[in-house]
Amino acid sequence: MEIFYFLILILTVVFLAYNRVSLLMSMAIMIVLTVAWTELRHIVYVPSWFRFANGIVAVILIGFAITPLRRLLISDRLYGLFRKLLPTVSKTEQEALDAGTVWWDAEIFSGRPRWRKLLKVPAPALTEKEQAYLDGPVEELCRMTDDWEICETHRRLPDQVWDFIREHRMFGMIIPEEYGGLEFSAQANSAVVMKLASRNLTTAITVMVPNSLGPGELLLHYGTEEQKNHYLPLLARGEEIPCFALTSPSAGSDAASMSDVGIVCKGEHKGKKVLGLKLKWNKRYITLAPVATLLGLAFKARDPEGLLGGDEDLGITCALIPTDTPGVEIGTRHMPVGAVFMNGPTRGEDVFIPMDWIIGGQERIGQGWRMLMQSLAAGRSISLPALGVSGGKMTALMSGAYARIRKQFNIPIGKFEGIEEPLARIGGRTYRMDSARMLTLVALDQGERPGVLSAILKYQLTEGNRHCFNDAMDIHGGKGIITGPRNYLAHGYQAVPIAITVEGANILTRSLIIFGQGAIRAHPWLLKEMEAARNPRPEARKLFDRAIFSHVGHVISNMARSLLLGLTGGLATRSPVSGPTARYFRQVKRMCAAFSFTSDLVLLALGGSFKFKEKLSGRLADALIHLYMCSAVLKRFEDDGRPQEDLPFLVWAMDDSLYIVQESLKGVLENFPIPGIGRLVRWITFPLGAPYSPPSDRTGKQVAELLLSENVSRDRLVSGVYISDQDDASGRVHTAFHLALTSTNAENAIRNALNEPVTYENYPALVQKAVESGVITEEQATTVRLAQEAARAVIEVDEFTREEIEK
Ligand SMILES: Cc1cc2nc3c(=O)[nH]c(=O)nc-3n(C[C@H](O)[C@H](O)[C@H](O)COP(=O)(O)OP(=O)(O)OC[C@H]3O[C@@H](n4cnc5c(N)ncnc54)[C@H](O)[C@@H]3O)c2cc1C
Repeated sequence: MEIFYFLILILTVVFLAYNRVSLLMSMAIMIVLTVAWTELRHIVYVPSWFRFANGIVAVILIGFAITPLRRLLISDRLYGLFRKLLPTVSKTEQEALDAGTVWWDAEIFSGRPRWRKLLKVPAPALTEKEQAYLDGPVEELCRMTDDWEICETHRRLPDQVWDFIREHRMFGMIIPEEYGGLEFSAQANSAVVMKLASRNLTTAITVMVPNSLGPGELLLHYGTEEQKNHYLPLLARGEEIPCFALTSPSAGSDAASMSDVGIVCKGEHKGKKVLGLKLKWNKRYITLAPVATLLGLAFKARDPEGLLGGDEDLGITCALIPTDTPGVEIGTRHMPVGAVFMNGPTRGEDVFIPMDWIIGGQERIGQGWRMLMQSLAAGRSISLPALGVSGGKMTALMSGAYARIRKQFNIPIGKFEGIEEPLARIGGRTYRMDSARMLTLVALDQGERPGVLSAILKYQLTEGNRHCFNDAMDIHGGKGIITGPRNYLAHGYQAVPIAITVEGANILTRSLIIFGQGAIRAHPWLLKEMEAARNPRPEARKLFDRAIFSHVGHVISNMARSLLLGLTGGLATRSPVSGPTARYFRQVKRMCAAFSFTSDLVLLALGGSFKFKEKLSGRLADALIHLYMCSAVLKRFEDDGRPQEDLPFLVWAMDDSLYIVQESLKGVLENFPIPGIGRLVRWITFPLGAPYSPPSDRTGKQVAELLLSENVSRDRLVSGVYISDQDDASGRVHTAFHLALTSTNAENAIRNALNEPVTYENYPALVQKAVESGVITEEQATTVRLAQEAARAVIEVDEFTREEIEK
């Protein structure tokens, strides 16, 4: 009986916390319950300790719910302590933290994502004009480009490709139509880059750069009317080739530490003495710099003579400098691996520019870092993720086909379980990457600039690309290694580190930015607490009180949710859908509560020093990333109309992601900074042990089978890439794959009847014999012959004379 009452008390508290009932309402409920239990004792047995315990909970809640009381007792005292503990944040750090908006990341941090909100987000779609552009000029550009020729023969894009890009205004995808640009959605911008990258990376990167962070984007948001009217039409037509120079030899990831400088002074411009800046810079790795006509430059502005009447250090500033300005040095090239897009250093010495060359004019002096961070918050989710997904789709397409064409031990290698594993990883990852790409683009097109999600996309989709290429290389064996016009993998494989490194190198992005920025921006209360603690005004204490008590309620609620959802295996929460994905909606919600609860405890234990604990931060980033990936996968399945045949991709992706979330949280708790607490929290978040396992062998087999045959799921998975119908490296694979599938029955018949497998070496005599003995028809024989010749063409690799190689 006593246990029964004990359970009632616990369940009452858990119920209130789980449902996030407000403090006032909870207080009222506990008072009513205390009175009710006291009265009930006349009718049934109610232990006195139980009535007392209900009363104690009610009294504690009174202390928490009555604001003047709790301020006096708790929050005003904590306020001073919090102010002292607040970490110092530099201006550039603060501007990076403030950049962009929060979106689905906030739902994950809440611990209780609202699925209906996600499911109401529109499905991704292109306009007719955008689709026609992809089917027209983009398809044609893909057809025009020859990867080997570009990378190895010309080592640059041929002139006709540059002309085509200009003619079709591909450099102006983000520029509004009123300035002569294409004014494409983020969805279309990504689709163009993805398709181009599936043919040739150099073309894709060349097109992508003027459409991402750089002069065009900065002018659009911050330029003066005069600057926009002058430059945007020229940029849209490709008459100005832009580049943007931020990185210096000494300042890579820590770009804000650059030593490039602009001193405010008077100087000569167009024959007149005007106020301006004398610049000195040394930048490297700048894409398009060797051919740029318009240099976007970031430097630190200083005003030692006080000509502007303010501080000496004015801060990072962005300017646009025509590259024919005296003193500007460009032209030499770096050689990035795997691609030959224009990239090189730029230097300048005593280059005088007038104030109106600053982007946004003189009033924007010192605002450069904020402008860059704001632009990056959106841009990071477009171009590089598109490259990553393109790699995933191409490796899925080509590896599945190759694994069906290539035989060893007289069996297509894709039928071996050892090859099934990497094939399944490519298929599942690509499905997940593309889901996240599309969902984030929809957010962008709705006006969001989701800084944390952009960092997630950049990191996760470029890492996914790396994994896909590694697996594809293993599947292809020597065929992937021997370079030449017949190799469709090697350049993509070589170029993998480029996307990993640019726009925030991946280790830094995972270890420092994703959780670090997420915890502050997307957390429902932390930023409010920090703002209140920094606020010198008298009302700050009231704001702090509200934030800190809401935060405590948030932690208690997530603790209750983690425990209850853990004990019920997620069944205590409802799924917004029924069917095979319902289970996943519940599990993701469960893990959001566990993630949010664990994050809060880590932040509480480490305070401001958490930013130096990159291993914990990295693991929490992994959990956050995969909770977002899970959300995107579930949303995509609904958007696609719940195609049951795609379930193997979904199940692989969800099982893999949930397992990563679980292992990441376990890793955090095993390394929790306060001994013993980690074990306790693990008991709350995983009360019945670790529930998730990596994708099963059965799921892996189903995914591999989808890639090894022609079917609608495979078509959906790879949609948006260029499928060559030419007699070239990838075109030959598509042809051979189709023929291999078509000729299977006839080849099996020959093997069974004549006891010899067909190979591209023995087929002429064997097929003839099979026809003569009536095993197959003449029509079937033709298909087998074509299939074997096509397979030979795929399996062959290039060879060169020694002179050609050793020249
Ligand atoms: C092909 C190419 C094109 C580029 N295009 C441009 C361009 O157009 N314009 C431009 O301005 N720049 C450009 N860049 C520069 C690019 O953005 C930088 O390379 C990038 O910022 C990293 O700097 P870094 O290479 O000096 O590496 P470093 O900063 O030296 O980093 C080396 C490693 O240390 C890690 N690291 C650094 N700090 C931390 C930390 N706090 N915690 C954990 N890990 C950390 C990084 O993640 C990385 O793995 C380009 C670079 C390349 C290679």
